Amino acid sequence: MSAVLGQSGYTWRDFCKIFISNNPASIRNHELGQRHKDNVANRLTSMRQVKAAKKKEQKEATHVLEQIEAKRKEGPIFVGEEEVFHQVHQIITI
Ligand SMILES: [Zn+2]
Repeated sequence: MSAVLGQSGYTWRDFCKIFISNNPASIRNHELGQRHKDNVANRLTSMRQVKAAKKKEQKEATHVLEQIEAKRKEGPIFVGEEEVFHQVHQIITI
């Protein structure tokens, strides 16, 4: 979350994209600040959104896969479908 730059006396705050003085008082002061709290909240929100999007994608892929599997049981699949099958399978197994 935070990298310490040994000789500069500053520490990089990744959530806030700024350097602050590398001492406990400054770090504490920064982490208690509204800007930091907002940035942490924003980061968590975007992480959740990415996770939700990924989940949705997998769910849709699973659905397509189920449809293909169902079709497969009906008879031989076409070459184009087999290609889609492999692509979907890759998404699911990532
Ligand atoms: Zn911060």
